[in-house]
Amino acid sequence: MQKTVLITGSTSGIGLAIAEQFAANGFRVAFQGLGHDGPDIAANIAGRYKVSHSFSAVNMLDGDGIRVWVADVHQQWGRIDVLINNAGIQYIAPIDEFPQKKWDEVIGINLTAPFQLTQAVWPYMKQQNFGRIINIASAHGLVASPLKSAYVSAKHGLVGLTKTTALEGASFGITCNAVCPGYVNTPLVEKQITDIAKQTGQPVDQVAREHFLNKHSIKEFVAAESIGALCLFLASVEAASITGATLPIDAGWTAQ
Ligand code: NAD
Repeated sequence: MQKTVLITGSTSGIGLAIAEQFAANGFRVAFQGLGHDGPDIAANIAGRYKVSHSFSAVNMLDGDGIRVWVADVHQQWGRIDVLINNAGIQYIAPIDEFPQKKWDEVIGINLTAPFQLTQAVWPYMKQQNFGRIINIASAHGLVASPLKSAYVSAKHGLVGLTKTTALEGASFGITCNAVCPGYVNTPLVEKQITDIAKQTGQPVDQVAREHFLNKHSIKEFVAAESIGALCLFLASVEAASITGATLPIDAGWTAQ
């Protein structure tokens, strides 16, 4: 039976790498992303692996839009097997200068939207007696860094939501796990590197080494493809006993 995966933020970075792994393994993919090139990126991946796909540009700050999107995907394919809550943003500022609007956006996109999506897929997964919910949290779901109060709070919250979802899903064949990556070289991180390079006048390689890879025990970025492979395993039937787990894939960051 062909399975359906719904992946937020799947036209860029980690979400795109996850989408590619699922498409390569025959899943129907419901893509979502905000950039103008999203529909082409989604069609390209689906075409390469000859799988059905859909695309939505719904904003993760639009709760009603999220519910309509999920209902549309279910109506189209009759199943939603896997939900991957991946869309996320970062904002960096000291606590005393942190804009309220940015706090609300970071919490809204990184934490409230995963809850709304979980709620929206819940009746379908219960009815199927099968579901896999994978929350892309972060090493920042386990440890903190300065200047990232909203992001660290949202990701710690997402780890908590993961555990509660696992407990409530246990009797319905629904598992829920949090994947906690270290730094991955995606547009989200590239922007932080170039911002710091501009502020400090340091070359980007030095910024990457001294401000990002310094956290990793293995001094390399995490490969987005490895996160995709981990998600694919968590979505499998063989992963039925893994639930409520927080799985670091962080080059040894949180082992320190
Ligand atoms: P990215 O910026 O490359 O991609 C983010 C995606 O989210 C894009 O597709 C974008 O369109 C979508 N998005 C952003 N705001 C949105 C909104 N308001 N509504 C709908 N979609 C929106 O980022 P990434 O690095 O691939 O990050 C993906 C996830 O992985 C995030 O949750 C991030 O917190 C997490 N993460 C990233 C890293 C890293 O080092 N890159 C590390 C740990 C965790």
